[in-house]
Amino acid sequence: MSTTTLIADRSEKLETRRSQVAAPTKRRTRRYQWLRALPFLMLHVAVVTVFLVPVTVTAVALFFATFVLRTFGLTGGYHRYFSHRAYKTGRVMQFILAWIGCSALQKGPIWWAAHHRKHHRESDQPDDVHSPVQDGFWWSHIGWILDESSEQAPVELVKDLTKYPELVWLDRHYWLPGVVLAVLCWLIGGWSGVVWGFVLSTVCLYHTTFMVNSVCHLFGRRRFETPDQSRNNLFVALLTMGEGWHNNHHYYQSSANQGFYWWEVDFTYYILKGLSAVGLIWNLRKPPERVLKLGLQKDREQKNRLQPTDVAAQDKLAEATNPAT
Ligand SMILES: [Zn+2]
Ligand SMILES: [Zn+2]
Repeated sequence: MSTTTLIADRSEKLETRRSQVAAPTKRRTRRYQWLRALPFLMLHVAVVTVFLVPVTVTAVALFFATFVLRTFGLTGGYHRYFSHRAYKTGRVMQFILAWIGCSALQKGPIWWAAHHRKHHRESDQPDDVHSPVQDGFWWSHIGWILDESSEQAPVELVKDLTKYPELVWLDRHYWLPGVVLAVLCWLIGGWSGVVWGFVLSTVCLYHTTFMVNSVCHLFGRRRFETPDQSRNNLFVALLTMGEGWHNNHHYYQSSANQGFYWWEVDFTYYILKGLSAVGLIWNLRKPPERVLKLGLQKDREQKNRLQPTDVAAQDKLAEATNPAT
């Protein structure tokens, strides 16, 4: 295949991809609820207190422990279990997962899963609740959470969750596990424990989670041609324990692992495997063989499409070293 054909083929593919994503329509009206957002904003301001309290080993350990535990609550609980049903578990474990997820102060499992299912239905289309393609980076990262429009979740999409009264109760009192965590941090590590294990950890967790909505629809590699702009991003995958393999996830949503191959690090899945080994969860869903084969084929195609540059460079080198030919 000639270089020209390859480049033409590549442009055609890019054009197809662009046409799959609806162009940004009329900008939505922003109605930020600043009063409602006050606790969220105050937590950000409170981060400065890290300079006012002594840095103790206990406080730093609390930071890592609460960050990892709550990241898992969101990724393994809210996302892969409540939103996508990627595995099965019992009612007690379901409540524990919901409680850990709530302690991240990103609202309740019903609210979270409802908005997330809507995101997959409308991904990067005008009705997507947090699309950076439609509404810009700021909106997809933070704006939509502060906006009046996100207050009511589309609960008709989560009837499988609203049938559990304990989940409905927790969803209403979603702030409770966060308060319990803050008190525990105080009991274990004093004010340093609260500042590192609760304030700093919660704010870091906000932004690593939000990066999946913003960064992973803008920056990274697209393996699968999904009808959206989802991307695989190693940096976000490391920060979020595996959620950065977002293009994989948009292509095959119900899988318990979002890193499809051994080199795509996915700590959430490793923990899920551990929980499954001890019988706390079961029936972990995996992508079928055809999806894995297609992914490898796409990788090969993308690698081959990079060839023209190499060929041109080799031609130039050949010309330079054999001027007579
Ligand atoms: Zn998802
Ligand atoms: Zn997405």
